[in-house]
Amino acid sequence: MTAATMRAWRVQQPGPISTRPLCQVWEERPRPAADELLVRVLACGVCRTDLHVAEGDLPMHRPAVVPGHEVIGQVVEAPDDVFQEDQRVGIAWLRRTCGQCRYCTRGSENLCPQSQYTGWDADGGYAEFATVPAAYAYPLPDGYPDAELAPLLCAGIIGWRALVRANLPPGGRLALYGFGASAHLTAQIALAQGATVHVLTRSPQARELALALGAASAGGAADPPPEPVDSAILFAPAGELVPAALAALDRGGTLAVAGIHLTDIPTLHYQQHLFQERQIRSVTANTRQDGHHFLRFAADHHLHVVTTCYPLDQADAALTDLAADRVHGAAVLIP
Ligand SMILES: [Zn+2]
Ligand SMILES: [Zn+2]
Repeated sequence: MTAATMRAWRVQQPGPISTRPLCQVWEERPRPAADELLVRVLACGVCRTDLHVAEGDLPMHRPAVVPGHEVIGQVVEAPDDVFQEDQRVGIAWLRRTCGQCRYCTRGSENLCPQSQYTGWDADGGYAEFATVPAAYAYPLPDGYPDAELAPLLCAGIIGWRALVRANLPPGGRLALYGFGASAHLTAQIALAQGATVHVLTRSPQARELALALGAASAGGAADPPPEPVDSAILFAPAGELVPAALAALDRGGTLAVAGIHLTDIPTLHYQQHLFQERQIRSVTANTRQDGHHFLRFAADHHLHVVTTCYPLDQADAALTDLAADRVHGAAVLIP
């Protein structure tokens, strides 16, 4: 192969992961637009959202898209001098916004109706090269290897925003439902802020990791935590856990739903689940400000990032393992 080609994975036909919706292709390297960087991919995290794109839980935006939005890359071409050649940069989910609508102008660019997303509207990082609008690329903290930085770009940033949306009071009690890539980082942020963290997950290995990271308790997926909590975050894409999470809230508590996709929520009982000013809130992507705040936090507080690495050639195996909850920590593809 000549130097101008690359390997990439494309979602040829969205469907259950067992039907192998992704195909690996050899193709030309992407050409960056005038305001974009071209990067050589060093690592790309595998996020549950990639699975939703591959399986068709999310509607198709770009046919045969290259998934992947936790990209650590080395700059090959840069349009201006904000980023230098060879510099390590991050490419995350939020790819472009209009900058002019009522949401963008009030600091809620995550709600922009014109927003575009990496690995959904535009090709992402399951490839050897990728592009990103320079204004949406992140400079990265030192002190982390490439594979450990990758999950910070979505799992970390979304966890950060979910924690903000969950209204955790100082020194508060937090319950995390599900303990994968995002939750294991969110737990460390909350612990660093002085919270007491309870983890509820069906995976015994994840419960062990939670306790090792400093969680006060770790129980089964729908178990009640040992005390009422001020805040809860639902990371598992399982609507059936919403009643249990709301029932675990103390008066005035908040449940944030972190995922982009959730199965149906069962009927709620007003007294049991919502009265006493308990509330449920969604989390929709993130702003660039969330990303910069979180990456600054990760620079100041070294996070223990648990990764399982796969060669790029095994992207479909990584997604299959994620679908089966077999991934310890965060799956990361290495070209
Ligand atoms: Zn906008
Ligand atoms: Zn993601």
